[in-house]
Amino acid sequence: MKKRALVIESGGIKRRARDQELSTAEIPDRLIHDDVRDCVSRQLGGTSNLWSGRCVPYDPIDFGPRGISPGWPIAFEEVSPFYAPAAKFLDCGDETVQAEIFPDPRFEVTNVERYCRQPNLAKSLAKQLHQSPDIGFLLHHTVVDFTIDGSRVSELI
Ligand SMILES: Cc1cc2nc3c(=O)[nH]c(=O)nc-3n(C[C@H](O)[C@H](O)[C@H](O)COP(=O)(O)OP(=O)(O)OC[C@H]3O[C@@H](n4cnc5c(N)ncnc54)[C@H](O)[C@@H]3O)c2cc1C
Repeated sequence: MKKRALVIESGGIKRRARDQELSTAEIPDRLIHDDVRDCVSRQLGGTSNLWSGRCVPYDPIDFGPRGISPGWPIAFEEVSPFYAPAAKFLDCGDETVQAEIFPDPRFEVTNVERYCRQPNLAKSLAKQLHQSPDIGFLLHHTVVDFTIDGSRVSELI
């Protein structure tokens, strides 16, 4: 069966102050976190309108228990097959993320950071999204609740 998708977006094409107000949050310590209204973007493309497009894969240690985190319910091996298609989707070069850049026995300098050619995903995917008959858009709609019926969402509010 052919699948269709509906993108429900709280903001619109452009960033508006009144949409950003929906991203207020209590910050206990302003020294360690900025105002969330400045850190996210409620508009088509989300925070990719702000991000710098730096793509760095997780390390296996990120998935295990450490500190206050009990660990993730998925393992690095389950995620790693998706790095190559994700790199293609984000247009940040191939999936090579390990390379002997500056061989040095004292340090491990092998992680390669990749950058998207166009970090703003609303722009880089615009043509594809507009031309696809299988993707619909509902802008300026904020979801506040939903009902799950078995394995599917049956109602959105
Ligand atoms: C200045 C800056 C630079 C950054 N640079 C990098 C970087 O180089 N590399 C990196 O990996 N990360 C970077 N980040 C972090 C990265 O941008 C975020 O981690 C990422 O965008 C989060 O993606 P997301 O889809 O979870 O959320 P978002 O990108 O914030 O998207 C969420 C979307 O959902 C919409 N939405 C929210 N609630 C509702 C609702 N109830 N109903 C309908 N729609 C809703 C929002 O309007 C928004 O469009 C950066 C962040 C900032 C602020």
